[in-house]
Amino acid sequence: MSTLPIIDKNSWGANTNCVVCANQLKHTPAISIQNSSLHECVNCQSYTLLPRLQIAQQLDLHNSDEYFAHKYFELRRHDLHRAIERSAIAQNYVGKIIDATQNVRLLDLGCDNGLFMYAMQQQFGYSVSGIDISERASLAARNQFGLNVLNTTIENAPDNLSGFDVITAIDFVEHVVRPKTLFEEVYKRLVTGGVFYFETPNIFSLIYRTGFMLGRICPTLFKSQLERLFPLQHCQYFSPKGILFLSQLLGFEIVAHDRRILIDSDLNVSCSVLKALKLLQLVDNLYHNQVLDVYLLQKTD
Ligand SMILES: [Zn+2]
Repeated sequence: MSTLPIIDKNSWGANTNCVVCANQLKHTPAISIQNSSLHECVNCQSYTLLPRLQIAQQLDLHNSDEYFAHKYFELRRHDLHRAIERSAIAQNYVGKIIDATQNVRLLDLGCDNGLFMYAMQQQFGYSVSGIDISERASLAARNQFGLNVLNTTIENAPDNLSGFDVITAIDFVEHVVRPKTLFEEVYKRLVTGGVFYFETPNIFSLIYRTGFMLGRICPTLFKSQLERLFPLQHCQYFSPKGILFLSQLLGFEIVAHDRRILIDSDLNVSCSVLKALKLLQLVDNLYHNQVLDVYLLQKTD
């Protein structure tokens, strides 16, 4: 693995720089959508959404009826079968490093109503905790499954929420307003040898590339599909180079980086759009460029 150049750490937080590596962003956006625009980093090729959301805005977006009560999430909150499948995929990675029979502590970030962590608990015996910025979601997790879930962000979570063997984040890291802080907090709250498993969109997949193209040539015609593909809640997209950068900066080793397609029930789109997406996923499969990036990082020292 190559080592990325050292950059000026003081430039983190500058409003127009890459939120992953703090280098410059391309001036021309890859796509403009809902008064925001996505810009590629000239160094790490991660994509940053401008203007940057404030944490309060991200909180409002996640607590809104439009987001929280969306059919996709409602279905997902009650699909235990799918949660068991997701937990099996995660365990396939985590189980290579962590022995789940040894009273292992797991923290799930952005746990929503807790179905995934409930599946990890029931299937593999993890001792689970979760956090979510949505008050409604954390309440549902406590009421529905009796889970230990805090309504907070990881940076505001109490210091004793720590000493975890496993931290998981499914469809989460692309929502976080300060990603470097997130990785620092994850590192701090893991035991040495502990692992961070996360899944996040692959912006280089053909599905997203097609979205960029449609956004350039006919944004009005595909407005609703583009807003679905690039929701404002996704305030950055990580490149492999960006994840490598953060890992080297903080002391994580990248144990695994894979890609996989989304299954039909995860797509939840109309029949015609589904057919188009399946075709694009077929091509992505051929080039190992599937729409979902899957990472396992380990805290090594
Ligand atoms: Zn960057």
